[in-house]
Amino acid sequence: MYETEKNELVEILAKRDISNPRVLDAFRKVERHLFVPDIMKQHAYTDVALPIGYGQTISQPYTVAFMTEALDPKPGQKILEVGTGSGYQAAILNQMGVRVFTIERSLELYNRALKIFDQLGLKIACRCSDGTLGWDEFAPFDGIIVTAGGPTIPQNLIKQLAINGRMVIPVGDRNKQTMKIITKISDGEYTSKEAPYFAFVPLIGKEGWKEK
Ligand code: SAM
Repeated sequence: MYETEKNELVEILAKRDISNPRVLDAFRKVERHLFVPDIMKQHAYTDVALPIGYGQTISQPYTVAFMTEALDPKPGQKILEVGTGSGYQAAILNQMGVRVFTIERSLELYNRALKIFDQLGLKIACRCSDGTLGWDEFAPFDGIIVTAGGPTIPQNLIKQLAINGRMVIPVGDRNKQTMKIITKISDGEYTSKEAPYFAFVPLIGKEGWKEK
């Protein structure tokens, strides 16, 4: 189902600047239409963000691909995602052979993601809590990907990143963020690159925005 649409989407991503074959391959294999509400299925392979209910979105495929390529996860690595949402980004990482730990603050979306991971037989560890605090029990992580936009880089997440680990996180104001790609050099020291501009739903939590 949707094979043509899926292959066309992969072509669009490749024509932009996504070049990692492992990322493109994951997009070929993971079925985005399974992660969107029924009335959105016909748009599942259009390169746009879509509403998933509760005021949240499944990110634009290009954004998911860009962040995944920036994270550059290797098989067997332990990756933390903050903002499970629909579960699509977690499924892409799982497809790339990494051990995924994902945190969602909305109980409704957490329950929905649990159900779909279960239906698809995906072994992804999920937790319903404030992801700005990380998941200490399983730290350090080889990579951390934050899929909601925060005002600053949560220090808890920096602490839980392994040395040489990479974190990809949109940081800015509530409407517009730059993507920060951080590599941890040692405890208390990291390098950072930036890519403009992205627009994410807010990262709400202790080290994020306050709920309105
Ligand atoms: N990665 C998701 C996907 O593949 O569908 C897209 C995520 S959506 C753009 C952002 C998600 O982050 C929302 O579901 C929102 O509830 C969640 N979120 C916001 N702040 C959070 C926090 N502090 N901890 C965990 N989840 C959070």
